[in-house]
Amino acid sequence: MISFMDLYKINQRYRKEIDEAVKRTIDSGWYLLGKEYDSFCKNFADFCGTKYAVGVANGLDALKLIIRAYGFGAGDEIIVPANTFIASMLAVSENGAAPVLVEPDICSYNINPDLIAEKITPKTKAIMAVHLYGQTAQMDKICALAKKYNLKVIEDCAQAHGAVYKGKMAGNLGDAAAFSFYPGKNLGALGDGGMVLTNDESLFEKIKCLANYGGIKKYEYIYKGVNSRLSDICAAVLNVKLKYLKEDNLRRFEIAKYYRTNIKNPFIILPQIYDGNIAIPISHGNISQGEKVHVWYLFVVRTKNRDKLQKYLSENEIQTLIHYPIAPHKQIAYKEWNNLSFPITEQIHNEVLSIPCNPSLSDAEVKKITETINNYKE
Ligand SMILES: *Cc1c(COP(=O)(O)O)cnc(C)c1O
Repeated sequence: MISFMDLYKINQRYRKEIDEAVKRTIDSGWYLLGKEYDSFCKNFADFCGTKYAVGVANGLDALKLIIRAYGFGAGDEIIVPANTFIASMLAVSENGAAPVLVEPDICSYNINPDLIAEKITPKTKAIMAVHLYGQTAQMDKICALAKKYNLKVIEDCAQAHGAVYKGKMAGNLGDAAAFSFYPGKNLGALGDGGMVLTNDESLFEKIKCLANYGGIKKYEYIYKGVNSRLSDICAAVLNVKLKYLKEDNLRRFEIAKYYRTNIKNPFIILPQIYDGNIAIPISHGNISQGEKVHVWYLFVVRTKNRDKLQKYLSENEIQTLIHYPIAPHKQIAYKEWNNLSFPITEQIHNEVLSIPCNPSLSDAEVKKITETINNYKE
């Protein structure tokens, strides 16, 4: 069986360095907000080009803390793509604000920026741009709208470590950005982890404080805060893996390019890259100039008989996953939305299938996946 993503294999490639980093951290006797934490915050902020970073417990907390630090809550609305992972919405709901859903475009699966303006009301405070599956949202249009209506732009970068939009890194494309280091993400820890990035010093100070019980100094609290920290052991592992992120993303890019060139099946729709995502050679090594970039957290195909394709691939020893089988507005957790209609989002949730696309796959596996898909008949 070719597994969808073998996390053991992925981490094994850097095992020696990871072991050393973990050992170093254990031996330091300091496990929270220590040296590894500080250096990873600095390294990741430098990598993305932002001034400030706060390591937190997970990606959902990163989003939640950004919204809370801006003071958005009851009575406020935040624009969120209808087609995303549920955490994007939960972060808004947990602050008491209302997520206002906007349909994606069927080519990129990201929020359709041309449908945002009609959802903006006097209560709207921010637009959450989710870079789904590893492709950045259309940030020029989103930022122009935000400027026009005086809204904040919050990036959900949980699927877009190392993604680039017009030469600028994801995480540095809006007012504040949230990352997840869940083990399966492009940059994954050995456990949960997350980070907020921003260039706004006062937002940074407030989030740092909120995430540490609401205090700047030990035992002196200015907010009713939370405990949300990235552990030093995770930070140490992430410091190792960050060095290889570009290389890993390039391998994903290579695999995706092979699929996009060689999968030829009239029943299957391949993912597309939005025209704005043009590579700059400096940040992407051997991706040539003018080539469109995407970090391929997921390689998502679409087909009318999705369950049949999944069964066929499984019978042929290829594991696939569905991201995601039920649209957020159809979830029991959001009963109040169950009668709303988002036809493009629903179509995507009914038709998508994610095929293996990660740096631990061999060329032979990629070839086998391609050939098997090419032999599929509806
Ligand atoms: C993974 C993910 C999150 C949440 O991150 P966690 O670290 O799992 O809390 C948020 N948004 C998107 C789009 C994600 O894929």
